[in-house]
Amino acid sequence: MKYLFVLALFAAVAFLVYWRLRPYIRGVRQFLGVVREMRRVSGGAPGGFPQQRQTSPKKASGEKLQRCAACGTWMPASRAVSLRGGTTYCSHACLERAADAPRARKSAS
Ligand SMILES: [Zn+2]
Repeated sequence: MKYLFVLALFAAVAFLVYWRLRPYIRGVRQFLGVVREMRRVSGGAPGGFPQQRQTSPKKASGEKLQRCAACGTWMPASRAVSLRGGTTYCSHACLERAADAPRARKSAS
């Protein structure tokens, strides 16, 4: 009998606490939603808080993609290594590989 009474009291207290914390819980949920939104905007940076490094997200989102002429990887134009002839590479390694390729092919065949 006594045990049941304590259990009911405990449930009532728990409910009261939950009721009191409801606005707070809602605030936390909203905060988590904002954080998730910010992570999605920043490109899903793992773990890090996106406010720490702001590299102009507006420019990044509307940026043109360039294709690497050597390996075919797509990357934003700001990260691409572009030549005067309009050819773009993802890295200097690919640029060097592309420069060596015609010579290597000639000597191989
Ligand atoms: Zn490449």
